[in-house]
Amino acid sequence: MSKFFSNKYKALTPYTPGEQPTEMKYIKLNTNESPFPPSKKAIELGAKALESLELYPDPECGELTRALAEYYEVDPECVLVTNGSDEILNFAFMAFCDKEHPCAFADITYGFYKVFAELNGIPYREIPLKEDFTIDPADYMGTDETIFIANPNAPTGIALPRDTIEEIIKSNPNRIVVVDEAYVDFGGESCVPLTKKYDNLLVTQTFSKSRSMAGARLGYGIASKELICDMNTIKYSTNPYNINRATMYAGLGSLIEQEYTDKNCQTIIENREYTAKELKGLGFYMTDSKTNFLFAAHPTLEGGKLYRELKAKGILVRHFDKERISNYNRITIGTKEQMKALIDTVKVIMEEAK
Ligand SMILES: *Cc1c(COP(=O)(O)O)cnc(C)c1O
Repeated sequence: MSKFFSNKYKALTPYTPGEQPTEMKYIKLNTNESPFPPSKKAIELGAKALESLELYPDPECGELTRALAEYYEVDPECVLVTNGSDEILNFAFMAFCDKEHPCAFADITYGFYKVFAELNGIPYREIPLKEDFTIDPADYMGTDETIFIANPNAPTGIALPRDTIEEIIKSNPNRIVVVDEAYVDFGGESCVPLTKKYDNLLVTQTFSKSRSMAGARLGYGIASKELICDMNTIKYSTNPYNINRATMYAGLGSLIEQEYTDKNCQTIIENREYTAKELKGLGFYMTDSKTNFLFAAHPTLEGGKLYRELKAKGILVRHFDKERISNYNRITIGTKEQMKALIDTVKVIMEEAK
């Protein structure tokens, strides 16, 4: 740390992204990317946009905003497109929380919530998940805090029904509820329709997972006009051109070719069920995942050891060195071939451990 670093940030612990190794080719099941390339239309429109890089992009990201609005059947003024959904989550912390208006989220959830709270000097409360890693909705009712819920949750993969989230929204009319739906396309129930009914709900989604576009950095939020307007104030005070030209057009291409995303999600769900069954056959236990990953542990094969041995054999998964979940690994669902390789390698590791 330099002597020039602002006192404001000295105590900040930044987010630790999953490994993105460049030194060798792993079977990469550690950061919940899609194993499939982006849609052809996304590649085509994104590449075409590179021909006009001398020009700033549209600060309103109008074409994509309108396309998303049409897809979700909401007003374009109720949509805000951002540089990954991480950006809109940060906007939400900045716009809707402060020292007097603290926030709350689960003790085991997306690690960035805590970082954004600390970055922005916002007091936060971590609400413990139940023993089985499910959320107790009662813990979130009427707390008068800004609530952040990943639904389905990460890294547990567990989803709450829309009705339950609606109860939480209703119980907290004076504070915002942010529902992070990064994984909703893999079997969850989206709360987007509720944004028309409640002025205190923000739903965020991303092109990073189901749409195979993690490298493009594209996310968005859907909420009432007023909430979107507040977050636009933050956007235009930090980075008005937050979406680059190629990303915007690639996003449009992805929406045009919606059936490609739907098919890929279906394949991931099938591969997830296959992998879950195989791992259970080997004695693993796991949560009921509605995402593109499994959260699994074994009674005799320690989580950290499994992570290290898989890595040594060329397969990367995500291990969190955190109390309560240190025996688990989060395994991204890839192609059928990748999942077969994972199962075979786990079998070898279990043989060797005998
Ligand atoms: C991946 C992820 C995000 C952010 O993804 P972006 O790539 O920034 O769009 C947000 N929330 C959760 C729970 C995630 O897993």
